[in-house]
Amino acid sequence: MDKDFIVGCHLSLSDGYSAMGARILGLGGNTFQFFTKNPRGRTPNREPDKEDVKGLAGMLCRREVILPVAHAPYTYNPCALKPEVRDYTWDSMRAELTFLEQLPGVLYNFHPGCHVGQGAEEGCRIVAAMLEQVLWPGMKTVVLLETMAGKGTELGRSFEELASILSMVDPALRSSLGVTLDTCHVSDAGYDVRDSFDGVLREFDSVLGLDRLRAVHLNDSANPGGSRKDRHAKLGEGFIGEKALVRIARHPLLKGIPKILETPNDEAGYAREIRILKENDPYERNE
Ligand code: FE
Ligand code: FE
Ligand code: ZN
Repeated sequence: MDKDFIVGCHLSLSDGYSAMGARILGLGGNTFQFFTKNPRGRTPNREPDKEDVKGLAGMLCRREVILPVAHAPYTYNPCALKPEVRDYTWDSMRAELTFLEQLPGVLYNFHPGCHVGQGAEEGCRIVAAMLEQVLWPGMKTVVLLETMAGKGTELGRSFEELASILSMVDPALRSSLGVTLDTCHVSDAGYDVRDSFDGVLREFDSVLGLDRLRAVHLNDSANPGGSRKDRHAKLGEGFIGEKALVRIARHPLLKGIPKILETPNDEAGYAREIRILKENDPYERNE
């Protein structure tokens, strides 16, 4: 498989780290995403098995799997008003990032959170303060802020909000930070993903710099652009459409960036979508 085309889907951690590596190869992909713990609950991580972690580290080293993404659970809110939620989030993120040093080449993705009435400006300030607490100079993992649909008081509904968070982080730590572009979220937030993705990338470049873009969540959206709903759809079953999503997956400026499917699929459905993306390259003839 072309190592420049990195594609995969969300998988469950329930059978361990090595199992996810084996699983994604079986589905035809070369990257994957997983929740660092049960996404909606707060069950603590089982102590990960050393041999199991080493198994995945070996696959990363041999480039059988490339740039998988560890996704922080939805229960985290870095800028929560309640101190216990905020402390829990910061402590958990720090622990997860410490653990990930054993898996060099894994990215860490989180939602900037909900400002719950504190205001977007204050929310961004708190997220930046959190990053200064949980990151450290020389860490191996790149930490990604996800672009959000803008539901409720969600931060990250615009490239400007993410840029404002980044600008408040100590420059010595900023090299450990990047952004995940979620096609469903960005479309729901009002960017014209379907008809003008080049324009969206130009805007991303002017506000954040394209070098910050380190992962793509490739999802169709069950709702029209600007709806701020955040309901993912299977490729081709939503308002973005398969044609636009294949073009995004294969965009020459996004080469070498992992494309992760978070579509409502079982594994057979994911295998099918991975095959569609591998078999179609609208740019091929122009190269
Ligand atoms: Fe997410
Ligand atoms: Fe996402
Ligand atoms: Zn979503």
